[in-house]
Amino acid sequence: MLAELREEVCALHAELPRNGLVAWTSGNLSARVPGESLMVIKPSGLPYEELTPDSMVVCDLHGERVEGDLAPSSDAATHGFIYRHMPQVSGVAHTHSTYATAWAARGESIPCVLTAMADEFGGPIPVGPFALIGGEEIGHGVVETLAASRSTAVLMRSHGVFTVGTGPREAIKAAVMCEDVARTVHIARTLGEVTSLGEEEVEALHDRYQNVYGQR
Ligand SMILES: [Zn+2]
Repeated sequence: MLAELREEVCALHAELPRNGLVAWTSGNLSARVPGESLMVIKPSGLPYEELTPDSMVVCDLHGERVEGDLAPSSDAATHGFIYRHMPQVSGVAHTHSTYATAWAARGESIPCVLTAMADEFGGPIPVGPFALIGGEEIGHGVVETLAASRSTAVLMRSHGVFTVGTGPREAIKAAVMCEDVARTVHIARTLGEVTSLGEEEVEALHDRYQNVYGQR
């Protein structure tokens, strides 16, 4: 099962550059190992095209390596903190994608002005506190901000995006959708005022998307 998860997480990492969400070696993805206090995460500082299933690092939920030859992503402690405090989450993605991070640089949440936002995020995409990389401060900020919101994405102030999902694919999807709506709402705002959707509309859209949309 661990071998399968290494393969899945490695393959899904290709979605980050493919969707234009990362520059150079920035960004990362992880998956919780089902039934264990472990996760599979990207190694630190390796170019995306050089990632292999074997180069993925298995860490405990404090970000300490337990298996693998390479050092884990410098965000491993943050991913671990999120898994420890959000048992419903089994995938975490992190990017500095341009438009979403521009909103983060301004410390401004993305208002829910699109049906796609109501669908995916169930409201605005919130801003989390500024925190320095390394300790548990970022994880704390992510968990605290997401607990107060229905969103699966959070814009960490002056840093970038963290997204969560029921698995790594869902976390990547949230990162792709977050950047997509960040771009659209930014462009809309350069054209003039934008108006948030009403609470009832957001509720109806979110419910339909989460419970009815797609193949069942
Ligand atoms: Zn970062």
